[in-house]
Amino acid sequence: MWIRKQIEIGWSDLLFALNVSFFSRLPDRRNALSLIAKIWPENDPVVSLSVRTGFDCMLQSVRWPTGSEVIMSGLTIPDMPRIVERNGFRVVPVDINEATMAPDVDAVARAITPYSKALVIAHLFGKRIPLEPFAELAKKHNLLLIEDCAQAFSAGDSGSSIANVSMFSFGPIKSSTALGGGILQIRDDEIRNRMRSIESTYPQHSNRKFGRRVLKYLGIKAASNRRCAGLLFSALRVAGYNPDRVVSSLARGFAGSDFFARIRQQPSTALLSLLARRLQSFDSLALNRRIAQANRLSYRLNNLRLAGSSSKVSESLATVDSSESTYWVTPVCTRDARSAQQLVAELSQHGFDATRRSSLSVVEPTRPAKSPAISATQITALPVASSIVDRMVFLPLCDGMQVSDLDQMARIANRVCSRSSQNVPSLLRFE
Ligand SMILES: *Cc1c(COP(=O)(O)O)cnc(C)c1O
Repeated sequence: MWIRKQIEIGWSDLLFALNVSFFSRLPDRRNALSLIAKIWPENDPVVSLSVRTGFDCMLQSVRWPTGSEVIMSGLTIPDMPRIVERNGFRVVPVDINEATMAPDVDAVARAITPYSKALVIAHLFGKRIPLEPFAELAKKHNLLLIEDCAQAFSAGDSGSSIANVSMFSFGPIKSSTALGGGILQIRDDEIRNRMRSIESTYPQHSNRKFGRRVLKYLGIKAASNRRCAGLLFSALRVAGYNPDRVVSSLARGFAGSDFFARIRQQPSTALLSLLARRLQSFDSLALNRRIAQANRLSYRLNNLRLAGSSSKVSESLATVDSSESTYWVTPVCTRDARSAQQLVAELSQHGFDATRRSSLSVVEPTRPAKSPAISATQITALPVASSIVDRMVFLPLCDGMQVSDLDQMARIANRVCSRSSQNVPSLLRFE
């Protein structure tokens, strides 16, 4: 079974992390932080336990009036809008465009009110959204422009200088993972200083707890090679579990009660040491291999398009351009929920662990406090983002997949999707 997503960290990094978590005498925290700052391409990065920690801390530092509005692109992980609301602000989502996975600039412009304070753009699936038009709008209306690059890190990257804030995640399933950690580039001295003083009051996450996380991911990495994963999936099925659900539940960070107490911690020294090490040795060869695989897959797909791929794709495995997309994950949008389900089922029969599950969800607007007069229809719906979530299938791209594997996956996808387009009347396309 080609697993849906391999964690992007090597055995030697995991062993290093185990050692600093459990065995070595306390490594030097300040040393790790200054190493990170030295490798990071821009001055003064704020290093947090996670992007969610940093984002929450930033919102505690901005001093906007309660009820201020934060405009957000309409598809992201649900904790991000939750954090906005917890800080007393209102979430105003804007729908995204299927071709670009970005909100339309006009739609953002329409969402701006005198209460708007910030615009959060999430770069999804590894693809970078050009920020220029959003930066122009933000400047005109005095909004803080925040880019969420949690899914789009590659080496030597600290975000776009025209954003006020750029956020990068090194959480367990992210590129170049340190099994945790977030780096925020805050291009405003005042906010950055306030964030530092708030974070300094947080308790420190313990090295031992971090070590337990390292052990968990050692196990996951061991189990995610092609053979083990196949055995494990069969075993889970025999035992009556749904492997799809089990695997997707493994990736959940900060699960359990009291979310805010969990994110409001400083990273452990072990995490900082691992993060410094990961930044120092970015695996650009692995990234290039993945981009080449995505290009090949893209080239072989007929009616489906990989999110993040440009319109011109080439057969060659040699053309690699990471400025377009890092292909952190490779979803395709099928025609409807039913064909998405069929595609997952057929790929699974041929040893490809594709999935419709992701941590993303459609952003819901903050409802007006206690005003039953407002009907549900007045609450903005995001038809495109909702439809994408229904129809999206994440195709696995694993190190070790050959051209023949990619072509086989594309053939299955082409077959399933052309069949379902004949069966389903086009009127039903948008449910
Ligand atoms: C993963 C992710 C985050 C959160 O990152 P953490 O470091 O895990 O808090 C935020 N936004 C998006 C779009 C993500 O994919």
